[in-house]
Amino acid sequence: MSVSEPSDRLLTGARVATMVPGGAPYGLIEDGAVAITDGHVVWVGPATEAPCARRREDLGGRLVTPGLIDCHSHIVFAGDRAREFEMRLEGASYEAIARAGGGILSTVRATRAASEAELLAGALARADALIAEGATLLEIKSGYGLDRDTELRMLRVARRVAAERPVRVRTSFLGAHAVPPEFAGDAEGYLDAIVLPTLEAAAAEGLVDAVDGFCEGIAFSPAQIARLFDRAAALGLPVKLHAEQLSNLGGAALAADHGALSADHLEWLDDTGVEAMAAAGTVSVLLPGAYYTLRETRVPPVAALRAAGVPMAVATDCNPGSSPLASLLIALNMACTLFRLTPEEALAGATWHAARALGLDDCGAIVPGRRADLAIWDVRHPAELAYRIGWNPLAARIFAGETT
Ligand SMILES: [Zn+2]
Repeated sequence: MSVSEPSDRLLTGARVATMVPGGAPYGLIEDGAVAITDGHVVWVGPATEAPCARRREDLGGRLVTPGLIDCHSHIVFAGDRAREFEMRLEGASYEAIARAGGGILSTVRATRAASEAELLAGALARADALIAEGATLLEIKSGYGLDRDTELRMLRVARRVAAERPVRVRTSFLGAHAVPPEFAGDAEGYLDAIVLPTLEAAAAEGLVDAVDGFCEGIAFSPAQIARLFDRAAALGLPVKLHAEQLSNLGGAALAADHGALSADHLEWLDDTGVEAMAAAGTVSVLLPGAYYTLRETRVPPVAALRAAGVPMAVATDCNPGSSPLASLLIALNMACTLFRLTPEEALAGATWHAARALGLDDCGAIVPGRRADLAIWDVRHPAELAYRIGWNPLAARIFAGETT
């Protein structure tokens, strides 16, 4: 529409962190305004130049940012691993925990046994925590079923989260997350018998937006991931990868060679991987919640990623084992405190770069033409969002142009 027509809604008296790179820090407009029509931003700029609108709201100097985006989560699962956490702190060995039924396979057992309604209830509780902190878009992975029926059920539940709540969801098929007990020692057999056919079925049902895998000695080899990515390409689906979390198998470079949207974790990423990601435009997704929970000591090569111009996103990795974190704001804080991102880089990591990590260019910034998915905060400066710990300053959230 032309700006000469009145917009539906005008937010004035706002500090607007547009998050568009290349200008002022945070793309900040002091005393700004945002005009919204039909669920989209149609104008943003200084309040003195704002176009007319049918409805005007003065935000009293509050900060407006794009709605936050969690671009890496595993919020659909059943059971929890609190007892395992407790056992570890009581001194139990990894083997003792495994013998007591702990680890990822305990989550797989609980998830296989859960109904769709039970899985949905758990996922919604976690989605609500993220939404309460201004999230408007969640990526949700499968990967705790490791059989056809449960993987499909997880993806259906992920889709239902978006139907039940004012939030967008992008799904990732993560059948190649771990090798289930019935295929112990036979990752190749599992890939052929379950992962690839289930991917085909899920794609046919419209349940998959991207294909993910876990490239690690304890999971899948680069050659196996390459076969998965080839199948994704044949289905026209983008790929991403859990890479270089616990060791360096060259997963990030493999992902970049396949044009991956993102490579995630990256504590063991080397210069070859950085260069490959920079050349391919693959986003690095940093997951400080897992680093913190596992008490890792090796941080991702942030300085090298920054120097090479590799976009850095930040996400929760919310999952029951290695990152029971349903707070993007705490992820931002951890990205700064543990990984030494600046607060501006961290916020860009949950907005502008997170959108890119999901292959989207219709969100993650406040610019005309993008969705009016916004977060309004009771803070004076955007650095406060990464600075605070456990002190949620969200005042309101706008989803598709409507306060929710
Ligand atoms: Zn993950």
